[in-house]
Amino acid sequence: MFFAVITLFPEMFEAITAYGISGRAAKRDLIQIHCINPREFAEGNYKRVDERPFGGGPGMVMMAEPLAKAINRAKELAAQAGAVHVPVVYMSPQGKTLNEPAVQEFVNYDGLIVLCGRYEGVDERLIQKYVDQEWSIGDYVLSGGELPAMVLLDSIIRRLPGAMSDEQSHVQDSFVDGLLDCPQYTKPDHFEGMDVPEVLKSGHHANIEKWRFLQRYQRTLERRPELVEKVELSKQQKKWLADLQGHNK
Ligand code: SAM
Repeated sequence: MFFAVITLFPEMFEAITAYGISGRAAKRDLIQIHCINPREFAEGNYKRVDERPFGGGPGMVMMAEPLAKAINRAKELAAQAGAVHVPVVYMSPQGKTLNEPAVQEFVNYDGLIVLCGRYEGVDERLIQKYVDQEWSIGDYVLSGGELPAMVLLDSIIRRLPGAMSDEQSHVQDSFVDGLLDCPQYTKPDHFEGMDVPEVLKSGHHANIEKWRFLQRYQRTLERRPELVEKVELSKQQKKWLADLQGHNK
């Protein structure tokens, strides 16, 4: 998948290109990430990319021209890479809040051009003309769009076919089928007076599957009850729940 990131701080993206699942995906050419610094397209000796806001007020605003040139460069690179469906996304606290269904949608794209704001944000005219989608990572304000962009990239990359060593490992991740994940345990058997649930050591796969589902359901009910209302349960899962309810009567 093709990614171009428009950022004043390209070095920050080493966190994505050099480490973990995304780092391995980059090494194996599952993804290509180009960081484009709008300063390269700025005019004058000082290569300014920000100016004071019209109308006064605090802070600076990112200027439209260098950003437009950087986005056009990103589009050229996308075309060279053969990526056709490559929307321009602006990371913004004013965008839609990122969630699992949105991430699953992004996985189907050929690529993304991600614009990271700084200062008070970006000249509105640039957004109107060049930005296709605005996405937020939550209702709080960060100093720049780089961390949100990395959150977006990581969430997409780990879902790309071949990115994870165990292809199945994301299947029971929280939100994938609408429920939260179950509790996880590993060695040792005993830790500070607490034991691993016996069923997980039984080797009985059907019982383990049932236990995990009931844990996930219970957790979601306790922590995020609004999610449970939307979940579509399989026949088997409905039966496990009915058995439990019968048992608890
Ligand atoms: N004045 C802007 C506002 O209140 O909407 C906030 C500007 S913020 C200090 C600078 C940049 O950080 C934004 O342009 C955006 O790219 C990024 N940013 C900050 N919080 C974000 C969030 N929750 N989600 C996505 N991007 C965010």
